[in-house]
Amino acid sequence: MSLIVHKYGGTSMGSVERIQNVARRVAKWHKAGHQIVVVPSAMSGETNRLLALAKELHAQPDPRELDMIAATGEQVSVGLLAIALKAIGVDAVSYAGWQVPVRTDRAYTKARISSIDDARVRADLDAGRVVVITGFQGVDDVGNITTLGRGGSDTSAVAVAAALHADECLIYTDVDGVYTTDPRIVPEARRLERVTFEEMLEMASLGSKVLQIRSVEFAGKYKVKTRVLSSLTPPDIALDIEAESGTLITFEEDESMEQAVISGIAFNRDEAKITVANVPDRPGIAFQILGPIAEANIDVDMIIQNQSMNGTTDFSFTVHRNEYQKALEVLNNTVKQHIAAGAVTGDPKICKVSAVGIGMRSHVGIASLMFRTLSEEGINIQMISTSEIKISVVLEDKYMELAVRALHKAFGLDQAPNGAQ
Ligand code: ADP
Ligand code: ASP
Ligand code: MG
Repeated sequence: MSLIVHKYGGTSMGSVERIQNVARRVAKWHKAGHQIVVVPSAMSGETNRLLALAKELHAQPDPRELDMIAATGEQVSVGLLAIALKAIGVDAVSYAGWQVPVRTDRAYTKARISSIDDARVRADLDAGRVVVITGFQGVDDVGNITTLGRGGSDTSAVAVAAALHADECLIYTDVDGVYTTDPRIVPEARRLERVTFEEMLEMASLGSKVLQIRSVEFAGKYKVKTRVLSSLTPPDIALDIEAESGTLITFEEDESMEQAVISGIAFNRDEAKITVANVPDRPGIAFQILGPIAEANIDVDMIIQNQSMNGTTDFSFTVHRNEYQKALEVLNNTVKQHIAAGAVTGDPKICKVSAVGIGMRSHVGIASLMFRTLSEEGINIQMISTSEIKISVVLEDKYMELAVRALHKAFGLDQAPNGAQ
């Protein structure tokens, strides 16, 4: 007998029929003798609908109240799934985050899980019940409802698996695994049988929305065996086939792994670029520019500063698009008050495209192939950043899909690497 956590995303929970399919799949695992905890998301479109209602009333709604509203989507899902399970003879019980409790800090709309009490869940599991726990939500130390950021049910599921020392966390979604890039953008994208934890972490942080980055961080920290697989297969397919399907996140590079240098292309349109022109080139200037941005709690991603010409330089950085206006305001104030610099300008119409692969550690020429491919498509690179296993470029956002397709092809990702299927 194993303890297994299943997570089902919004599409998988998107209608009464789909919820019935989820219940059938869960029942199959339960009948095979496993203890099962299920973490569902809100039904597809529901979180967007709830947040849009709030925006109709106020342009910048209070984050505490937003969480109060957004958390209801998952509460409906757990109740419906528990009813669907009971309807087919499986004893089940649903819990909201506060009932477990799943404790978080108080960073409304982007809270972090601090602890999960396993006592109540374990008692139910020992009594033979399937336990259904809300994704996406938790409770702070004084009882306020919090949410974990968009896509946060992945994180709830992996965190629950870690807290219960589950044997495996199965993330059921509307694709049958992690692909070399988003198959909606590149139909030739291939499913990866395995992906290393480090690569998955980079891909998630660089925009591959198949897993929320914090879920990958949890999987790494607590060594949770995590697999991404399809919820859209017939629910009664053989359990042993289902158990081996999808993509496994591995913690070691083993010999049998696909030998591709690049594992995937990630992209996002979530950032905006800000530039200060004619900044005096002297010690402390980066701190003067970015210090107030950090104090305003705004995360900065890529940064570039040019070699100075005649004692001044241009300084550019990127922030999340949601924080773009706030960052522009902060920077305009800083420049007005403290720095004799030129104009502050911004561009929200950018995208970031990244190539990710642990093979980069041992191969040269990856950056030049990336830059050549983009130049052949006539795409101008605005910023570049690299780490040991990734190269990211900032481009004008209208070129995003073209760049992703061209790079996917140039790195041979549409073909199985040597020795792999
Ligand atoms: P869920 O509602 O199940 O959490 P999401 O929409 O959050 O599902 O994530 C699944 C989606 O992620 C897929 O439909 C796919 O379009 C997208 N995606 C982006 N990058 C990738 C990738 N590299 N591999 C697979 N899917 C990806
Ligand atoms: N329902 C939440 C969202 O739409 C959480 C999730 O689906 O993971 O972001
Ligand atoms: Mg998701």
